[in-house]
Amino acid sequence: MVELNITDLHVSIGDKEILKGVTLSVEQGQVHAIMGPNGTGKSTLAYTLMGHPSYEVTSGTATFKGQNLFDMATDERSRSGLFLAFQYPVAIPGVTVANFLRTAVNARRKALNPADKGIPILEFRNLLKEKMNLLKMDHSFAGRYLNEGFSGGEKKRAEVLQMAVLQPEIAILDETDSGLDIDALKIVSEGVNLLKEQNVGVLLITHYQRMLNYVKPDFVHVMMGGRIVESGGAELALHLEEHGYDWIREKVENGRNGS
Ligand code: ADP
Ligand code: MG
Repeated sequence: MVELNITDLHVSIGDKEILKGVTLSVEQGQVHAIMGPNGTGKSTLAYTLMGHPSYEVTSGTATFKGQNLFDMATDERSRSGLFLAFQYPVAIPGVTVANFLRTAVNARRKALNPADKGIPILEFRNLLKEKMNLLKMDHSFAGRYLNEGFSGGEKKRAEVLQMAVLQPEIAILDETDSGLDIDALKIVSEGVNLLKEQNVGVLLITHYQRMLNYVKPDFVHVMMGGRIVESGGAELALHLEEHGYDWIREKVENGRNGS
């Protein structure tokens, strides 16, 4: 059973502490949603887990497959099966979606077996077609330059396609739902549900509750001020949609005052 284990993680940007002790475990096959107001450190958590150089881990640990994640370079984390879908995916002009994905698939295969000669082209084409069909994507998509001129919805779909093809063990999605119209949201959600069926563990970071109408999380966590201040099941997300975050804020403040 592959697990991502985060314990008492503290992270700073410059001299500003953003994460102030985050503890969380995600197992393969589980969907964890992290919700919370803007500016509370959700993206910071995602970027830190993937090794963005601006984010400094000042204390705490994270392990993936029993290894210290922070000892691994970003590409190593990715090859070993951790995936981060970006909130703002970058365009790579000149590199087609298909070429990009084939290179990534081959890197991952080589990590699992150093003698691997790469995926045969026909097998890759079939894999790509199968996943594009599942995500209801036009096949011409594969020949376009990655993210160049993609609409918001297409970028998000391309991220989910990457996950479906690469089959990571744990995937982190940072606001993959933002900027999607309802049809694109449904398709992306189906993609996430598909990942779960394939036993991928998903850390779903979202500002809005609406994606959780289509993806049923096993666990919901609320982040505030760089900490997880509340955890529960899917019902917590529904409660948040109805009542907002104020009641949690009050609870946290009362807790600090010791009452
Ligand atoms: P969220 O994803 O929950 O909206 P972020 O993790 O993006 O929050 O940001 C958390 C805090 O860190 C915010 O106060 C934000 O202003 C700050 N922050 C994020 N990135 C940087 C940066 N590169 N330099 C300085 N401060 C940053
Ligand atoms: Mg964010």
